[in-house]
Amino acid sequence: MGQSYDAVIVGAGFSGLYMLHRLRQQGLTARVFEAGTGVGGTWYWNRYPGARVDIESQEYSYSFSPELDAEWVWSERYASQPELLKYLNHVADRFGLRDGIQFETRVTAAHFDEASNRWTVTTDRGETITARYCVMATGVLSVPNEPAFPGKDSFQGPSWHTGRWPHEGVDFTGQRVAVIGTGSSAIQSIPQIAAQADHVTIFQRTPNFSVPAHNGPPDPTVVADWTANREQYRREARETGFGIRMVDGRETLASEEDEATRRAVYEARWQVGGFALLGAYGDLTSDLDANATAVAFVADKIRGIVKDPATAEKLVPKTFPIGAKRLCVDTGYYDTFNRDNVSLVDLNDEPLVEIVPTGVRTAAATYEADAIVYAIGFDAMTGALGKIDIRGRGGAVLKEAWAAGPRTYLGLMVAGFPNLFIVTGPGSPSVLCNMAVAIEQHVEWISDCIAWMGQRQLGAIEATEAAQDEWVAHVNEVAEPTIFPHANSWYLGANVPGKPRVFMPYIGGFPVYRDKCNEVAAAGYQGFALTSDARL
Ligand code: NAP
Repeated sequence: MGQSYDAVIVGAGFSGLYMLHRLRQQGLTARVFEAGTGVGGTWYWNRYPGARVDIESQEYSYSFSPELDAEWVWSERYASQPELLKYLNHVADRFGLRDGIQFETRVTAAHFDEASNRWTVTTDRGETITARYCVMATGVLSVPNEPAFPGKDSFQGPSWHTGRWPHEGVDFTGQRVAVIGTGSSAIQSIPQIAAQADHVTIFQRTPNFSVPAHNGPPDPTVVADWTANREQYRREARETGFGIRMVDGRETLASEEDEATRRAVYEARWQVGGFALLGAYGDLTSDLDANATAVAFVADKIRGIVKDPATAEKLVPKTFPIGAKRLCVDTGYYDTFNRDNVSLVDLNDEPLVEIVPTGVRTAAATYEADAIVYAIGFDAMTGALGKIDIRGRGGAVLKEAWAAGPRTYLGLMVAGFPNLFIVTGPGSPSVLCNMAVAIEQHVEWISDCIAWMGQRQLGAIEATEAAQDEWVAHVNEVAEPTIFPHANSWYLGANVPGKPRVFMPYIGGFPVYRDKCNEVAAAGYQGFALTSDARL
């Protein structure tokens, strides 16, 4: 048997780094396993041109260390991938975390041993490690949706998935590039690829809503304001439904204002940029009619920016409410369609048939390409856990337990899988919240729980079936009346063929969720079964 730790942590992104720091602060031993060659998670893998965060930098960062917060200076309103990676490397160094991380190591299996109340974790290097706790800090958008297009391997040129971009970058100069997909990754990368390539052909299955980032150097007034009021603003962010202060949500209902006023409100928020548009009215995510007013506003914006009316019409989303899929935040996306070297193929008019050696063939034509970019997203929220052979009590297999969709208690633990924690798991706000806020809350809840267990010499904690059933029912119940089930989104697993259609994140709002987690803990971990261990 290999080494033994209090906890094994899988993944060295935002979650894994903070988890390691917290457990070490509590005097516990922990080992992080990370498949990449460095820290960063999402920001390590997603290096495509134009990759940047869609929440203002000062909000999309750790708040646990006032010193870190005070010393780090962001150079852009929305930090780019290289800057975020630099930040996470700085965090790893500043808190001395590197020696606790084993890189280029993928965890392949985690099996719970009931006799010892410990997990045995196996890696692709053939190691076995045991630990009382196993923390899955594996990320929600970390497993790329594999391109399954017929003929894919016949393509003569290079091809890349945006989520697995080469570290050395890609030079598109003089090339004809095919981009498949029009989600956030495509919307951020297309303007940059088009500025370099000879020609870009974009293959669109569903147009998305995108709002301008108005990115640039941070506004000095905003920086000064944040510096003076950081603690208060961080607190205010945590009191908003999405954990984002810049959304600046109003309670006014769209139906309470006339068309001209609404237009003025939307216009002001369009000028602010980013997710502020979704904060315009209190009913945009709950009332389809209210939502339609914002849809109409953005549709007109698209028609105003894109000069060719036929192309503009193809780019206007018509099949789902705004916000029901993650809103995209762009720099010059719609303008890119005014360039001579950019063309749009609507896959609803001409379905994609196959990839051929020289490009992409649809039902109507073959589009020649020297390179293909697959911007087709991720097996979200459950993908990374599904890749690990996770077995709980009685050898129960997590993948089988989740065959009809993920079931958790609070998105943190799963009945039948004691001492296994998931950071921002399905059933928690996760992707419907500022991830930095959601991650900190989960890491702190998990580490507090582990400390509490230690103080009481408890060997195992496990969600009860009853608490899990009740929570899953609640997660579904709160999602049902919202706009969210009205889109074929990755929130529902709809982007991965064969994946069960279940609304995975918790839409009840971050403060409600956090209070529930705190109440559960304060009541002695209500809804969890606790096992004492005489050996402790
Ligand atoms: P995505 O939002 O899932 O978009 C994937 C795109 O590929 C969609 O347009 C999808 O079309 C298309 N697609 C998938 N399979 C296809 C197929 N077989 N044929 C044709 N088209 C296909 O993925 P993403 O753009 O990588 O973004 C995922 C999430 O990551 C975002 O929602 C966001 O949360 C996060 N992200 C954030 C940023 C940021 O701004 N900071 C940047 C990138 C990603 P359908 O819509 O029809 O399925």
